[in-house]
Parts: sequence; structure tokens; C-alpha cells
Amino acid sequence: MMNKGLLIVISGPSGAGKGTICKALLKKQAFWLSVSATTRKPRNGEVDGKSYFFLEVDEFKNRISKDGFLEYAEVYGNYYGTPKASVQERINRGEDVILEIDIQGALKVKENYPEGVFIFILPPSMEELKKRIIGRGSETKESLLRRFTSAYKEINYVSKYNYAVINDEVDKATKKIENIIVAERCRVDRIKDNIIDSKEGTVYEQFYD
Ligand code: ADP
Ligand code: 5GP
Repeated sequence: MMNKGLLIVISGPSGAGKGTICKALLKKQAFWLSVSATTRKPRNGEVDGKSYFFLEVDEFKNRISKDGFLEYAEVYGNYYGTPKASVQERINRGEDVILEIDIQGALKVKENYPEGVFIFILPPSMEELKKRIIGRGSETKESLLRRFTSAYKEINYVSKYNYAVINDEVDKATKKIENIIVAERCRVDRIKDNIIDSKEGTVYEQFYD
């Protein structure tokens, strides 16, 4: 039997650089990045089904009632959720899946799926975080303030995660995450079955990558 893929959860305050780092990671390796559903309105350039599945509130609630989400949370006044079926299918097929989600959502996933890899992205400073959110130019003044105020509380949750990565330079932070993933694949406690592939007679691929 094949080992399951990793569920890699990338989380942290808004503006820390989660989206930027995930994009950089995907360029380097073939991960599957889960596309979340949200009731937030699309920003300029966002594509339905690619950036998010943009849903009306009623449809989102309908999916909650049908147990369609691995987790969902209300973040800055909108709903966000991770579609369950697609994530489970890929992990069971042995593919590694990345979730880029907020802190409440990450903690819910950790309760139900503790074998996930939980990575917290930290900004180099709160001043830099503010600059980045402003620089992104995507928020109204009110939304900016809300995101920034939440960030002060959210930073304390870093202790619930397995890893903390400071995003000072995108390349450096991305490299650290790649290294974390390599280490996680080598963890002996992830071997569910025999170390030798019964058909091929070889040691499982993950141990000599
Ligand atoms: P998040 O997904 O955590 O909300 P983003 O990836 O959207 O954050 O990044 C917020 C803003 O900061 C973006 O404008 C992005 O280009 C910028 N940014 C991300 N990482 C860095 C970095 N290491 N140095 C400078 N700017 C960055
Ligand atoms: P944004 O509006 O900037 O795209 O995202 C706002 C916040 O929601 C970010 O912290 C982002 O990581 C988080 N988020 C995106 N998708 C999900 C999801 O499926 N579940 C949860 N809990 N948070 C999400």
C-alpha cells in the first residue's frame, strides 16, 4: 500500500506573504494547492475557480450543511472554507497538498488531522507587515485596520504550529519550507506499511529523493 501524501498547512497573519510564498513553492515543485471557497468579492485579476470559488452566502451555507468543508471560518467578515473531497482524494492518492488558510482554520484542521505539517509565516516586523498590506493595495482603510489589529493577536498562535518561518526574503523563506517538507517526508513515523514496495522489491521512493 502506498503512503499518504502530506497535508501542508501554510498560515499566518494577512500580509505576511503566504500567497507569495505558495506561488514560489509551486514553481519549484509539483504540489497541489487547494482552491478555497469564499463569500468575499473577487479582487482585480482574481479568477473564479483558480484564486477561489466565489460563492454567495446562501450557497456557502448550503455546503456547510452538507459537510462539504474540511474546515471553514469567518475571516474579516467573510466566509472562507476548504472543500473536503478534493483534498482527501489527493492525499489518499499519495499526493502532497498545500492549504493556505487563516489561523482559526488551521487550528481546526490540526484537531482533526494532527499528522498535517503546520507552518506559520511570520513577517520580519509589524511595521513591515503594515507596509506590505498597504503596498498590496487591495484593502479599504477599514479592512486594512481590521487585518492589522487581528495580526497582533494572531502572532501569539505561532506556538500551536510545528514550524515558524520568517518571510524576510521570499527566496529564503521558500527554501526553508522546501527543506521542512524534505525532512517531513523522511519521518519514520509516517511509514504506515512495509518499507519495501512489495511489487518492485525496492525501498519506498520517498527515502531516497
Ligand atoms: P498573504 O497571502 O499572507 O496575505 P501576500 O502574499 O499577499 O500575503 O503578500 C502581501 C504583500 O507583501 C504583497 O504585496 C507581496 O508582494 C508582498 N511581499 C510578500 N513577501 C514579501 C517579501 N519577502 N518582501 C517584500 N514584500 C513581500
Ligand atoms: P484574502 O481575503 O486576503 O484572500 O484571505 C483572507 C484570509 O483568509 C487569509 O488569511 C487566507 O489565508 C484565509 N483563507 C483563505 N482561504 C481559506 C480557507 O479555505 N479557510 C480558512 N479558514 N481561511 C482561508
